[in-house]
Amino acid sequence: MELMTTDAEQNAQTLEPAEEHDKLFRDARRRLNKAIQYFPISPDVEEQLKYPKSSLAVSVVIRMDNGARRAFKGFRVRYDDSRGPAKGGIRYHQNVTLDEVMALAFWMTFKCAVVGIPFGGAKGGICVDTKELTKTELERLSRTYIEMIADMIGPEVDIPAPDMYTNEIIMGWMSDQYNRIKRGKYPGVITGKPLSLGGSLGRTDATGRGGMNVLRRLEELLNIVPQETKVAVQGFGNVGYHCARLLHDAGYKIVAVSNSEGGIYDPDGIDPYSLKKWEQEHKEVLAGAPTNGTSQPMSNQELLKLPVDVLVPAALENQITARNAKDIQAKVVLELANGPVTADADAILHERGVLVIPDILANAGGVTVSYFEWVQNQTGFYWELEEVQEKLQKIMEKATISVWETMTEYKCDMRTAAYVEALKKLSGAIEAHGTRYYFNLP
Ligand code: NAD
Repeated sequence: MELMTTDAEQNAQTLEPAEEHDKLFRDARRRLNKAIQYFPISPDVEEQLKYPKSSLAVSVVIRMDNGARRAFKGFRVRYDDSRGPAKGGIRYHQNVTLDEVMALAFWMTFKCAVVGIPFGGAKGGICVDTKELTKTELERLSRTYIEMIADMIGPEVDIPAPDMYTNEIIMGWMSDQYNRIKRGKYPGVITGKPLSLGGSLGRTDATGRGGMNVLRRLEELLNIVPQETKVAVQGFGNVGYHCARLLHDAGYKIVAVSNSEGGIYDPDGIDPYSLKKWEQEHKEVLAGAPTNGTSQPMSNQELLKLPVDVLVPAALENQITARNAKDIQAKVVLELANGPVTADADAILHERGVLVIPDILANAGGVTVSYFEWVQNQTGFYWELEEVQEKLQKIMEKATISVWETMTEYKCDMRTAAYVEALKKLSGAIEAHGTRYYFNLP
């Protein structure tokens, strides 16, 4: 396996990140530290969860269509696999760093534990702007990345999936490349594959659907009447679009939507189905699309501050920070992106009575159906769509109620409650080894 950076500095970054490199990861860790105040864990568990189990930095070198060679930085991080094989998507984005991938792998560990699926947490990424690549370059990049990390992944150890700017076609290339390298058929190594290559029905909209299941399960507890509830959605990709359309189907009023090119707002409502069509036909520019009333263009930052009931960040991390948390008017923030609210912003929102439904619960639908896909691949027996959706809803609703009850019992915010729920399961798995009791430790 070829390591891109073998110098001491990179190793230090991998094992114990230097301050300037590890902002996101440190922020992620703050949530754990807070949860430990409510649910003390044994020193064994704390040590086990301190650093990622392994981190790999690779150089993904490909030949471009014009004949030139180009290198892209790639990463794969396995955070913890005490509860089962590590699981986590692969992100393609120009801002991908080791710090970000570590934080994402950390969240995956807790996410799988919250919903009780038998996986640990991992994540991967390549620092690339996919809009600058042709389709053939994208395919070479994806296949070469798999070559570089092939020794680290596998159906029983570490199972990648899609994330931002990766999709089922890319998962298909990756799965095929892994099979070529290992000279066999291993459909369970990657989830989010096309149906014809062993994908699962219901995987495409699973994250948005799971978020919808969580919100709908809380309707009674939060006195939400869908027809009277205005929703703004930041990010209109896989997660944002499907959540918007499913909430729209359930009667919610989608009043604002944005993507990387900006957003659109109409207090009279927007039909997500026709907006998606418009987006595809207008080079992703949402402004000007027909809506129920009179629409206005809107920046991503303005969208966050709209007078809505539910705000759904479904794009990037660090969108709601200490700087804009006081301007959020929504009563509920449904975190479908990973890490859209910083730890500082959490405290401000909690004090202002804004309920943040945390990412590790709200967006766990994707990994849950990825788990279903893996089960189907490992057994070779495939399920009907209704079965997938029913099982997903059951898991999401059960986890939602457990987190809600823990929040009430511990009198804490919902994120801390979700971490407590996850810690209970992680502690159980780590302590089940029993070896601490060989020694007379406190
Ligand atoms: P995607 O690539 O399908 O869509 C991303 C969307 O975000 C696009 O609409 C893009 O235009 C928009 N976007 C990009 N930069 C933006 C910016 N600066 N401001 C506003 N919008 C911007 O990605 P996705 O799969 O929908 O993932 C979105 C988020 O959900 C990510 O945080 C991802 O980690 C998280 N997530 C995804 C899954 C999954 O199954 N795909 C599961 C759990 C969590």
